[in-house]
Amino acid sequence: LFVDEPLGEGQTIPLDQGQAHYLFMVLRTAVGDPVAVFNGRDGEWTAEITAAAKKSGELTCRGLAAPQLDPPDLWLLFAPIKKQRTDFIVEKAAEMGARRIVPVLTDFTNSERVRVDRLQAHAVEAAEQCGGTFVPEVAEPVRLTTLLEDWDDRRIMFCDETLAGSASDLADEDGVPWAILIGPEGGFSEAERSRLAGMGQAQAVSLGPRILRADTAAIAAMTLWQSTHGD
Ligand code: SAM
Repeated sequence: LFVDEPLGEGQTIPLDQGQAHYLFMVLRTAVGDPVAVFNGRDGEWTAEITAAAKKSGELTCRGLAAPQLDPPDLWLLFAPIKKQRTDFIVEKAAEMGARRIVPVLTDFTNSERVRVDRLQAHAVEAAEQCGGTFVPEVAEPVRLTTLLEDWDDRRIMFCDETLAGSASDLADEDGVPWAILIGPEGGFSEAERSRLAGMGQAQAVSLGPRILRADTAAIAAMTLWQSTHGD
């Protein structure tokens, strides 16, 4: 269970209505039962249910079950598409160890309406589901051109079906963080391609001869990156 509270020996955690409903009504747990909790910062803890009511409750931390993971510093930048497919991208990116997920508005972005709170909730659920102790942050949508104006040393795996480049040739310097960039259904514009080509940090990567849907491309790119740069 994800809880937005500090975790430590003897620490008590108040439960809100949704958490109480999930634990006591859906999972049918009761006072005295153990629950695995994490907050994305302090590792996974075994907590005991010390109070249970219909709309509230309390857990008490009893022991550290797993230390906090420190996954490689990978961001996923993607152009939002249809709601369900965008949800899917966020869910899979959280499962695959992205630290930060950034919806980017590109020249051909299909949908600019993004509910960050909803996507963040999906990221939390995905982290809960896969037993990770880390929850990626979903950022507010930002124009790709704005984002690139202040770009630092972070390298960009620029996925584009019109360009050649192999994931196995991605630079691999110690401690240099990465971002994967996936475009919308309409792909990138020529202006975006030349902007990225002019940046030393960006490396074009092809995901094969077939044109993948944006959600498939995001998973394929993260898999390739994890296989060469992951932990
Ligand atoms: N503009 C293209 C078209 O309509 O022919 C399709 C874009 S594709 C559906 C969406 C995004 O997925 C692309 O912008 C790119 O980032 C990524 N992508 C899909 N297939 C890819 C491939 N074979 N290599 C690299 N990136 C790919």
